[in-house]
Amino acid sequence: MVNPYHLEQRQTLDAIRDHLSTAPEDRDRLLEWTASYRAFRAEASDFLARHFQEICTEKCFRSRLSACCSREGVITFFADMAVNVLVSDDPELDALSAVLDAPNEGFKCVYLGDRGCLWRIKPIVCEMFLCDAALSAAFDGNPDASARWEALKEERKRYTWPDRPVIFDDLEAHFLAAGHASPLMYLHNSPGLLRVKQKAGISSPVDR
Ligand code: SF4
Repeated sequence: MVNPYHLEQRQTLDAIRDHLSTAPEDRDRLLEWTASYRAFRAEASDFLARHFQEICTEKCFRSRLSACCSREGVITFFADMAVNVLVSDDPELDALSAVLDAPNEGFKCVYLGDRGCLWRIKPIVCEMFLCDAALSAAFDGNPDASARWEALKEERKRYTWPDRPVIFDDLEAHFLAAGHASPLMYLHNSPGLLRVKQKAGISSPVDR
């Protein structure tokens, strides 16, 4: 039986790929829109590699104690997938399709391959998730790193939290206007996030 979670991920992935293949001029436009967000992600990724790579390799991959990449636990926003499609090549995206089509019998996230996450730019929830053990191992006695991490968490909101116009909302609106709806469009579907937008007086953005 097809797992509904995998199905909605697969359909969203296909819709984004189809759209970009039928409207190739959109790729450059969307790359430009997402440039600042992708720069933020590169910065966050460098920071995490510097402070957490060793700790997480030990905890997640050697001991298998971590819940970071637990089976089907990942929340994926539409924008996560759109950004990843924009920066990935066909073989990388085919690999994502293939794991979504296969039954997942393991204990881990379907996207976790032998050499780590199969996404080139992984979902934001995954990037910014750090367990308490990793946080204290990295930040105890290192207030500068701790402060930088807090600043990165604040910066994340500039792109994802819709109490202001954010790229995560813009991308959903853009694809909706092009005729592609997805259950992963939480900034247009989630009652909680819609309330945040309503309270802030943010209407769904008009496609730019
Ligand atoms: S998407 Fe990648 S980083 Fe996120 S849980 Fe799955 S394997 Fe881990």
